[in-house]
Amino acid sequence: MLRIDCPCCGPRDHDEFRYGGDASVIRPAHDDADFEAWYRYVFVRKNPAGAHREHWQHVLGCRQWLIVERDTRNHAIASIVLARRPSR
Ligand SMILES: [Zn+2]
Repeated sequence: MLRIDCPCCGPRDHDEFRYGGDASVIRPAHDDADFEAWYRYVFVRKNPAGAHREHWQHVLGCRQWLIVERDTRNHAIASIVLARRPSR
């Protein structure tokens, strides 16, 4: 069982979260007409054995998006931060 320590809610089972994909992927600019850049953004993903930065959303809790650095070999979590600073 993977436990994710949400910065807002504390440790929770991963069943409360939704995986949101690779956090290292950067979206091209809206006016970027480079087909290859959009192709890579939409379809090309790495499948690392080791440290991986991932988006997770706490859908059954605070609904915040998190960036979780997880080792894909043993699910050890190195860091968890909010993907976006909360508004004031
Ligand atoms: Zn939360």
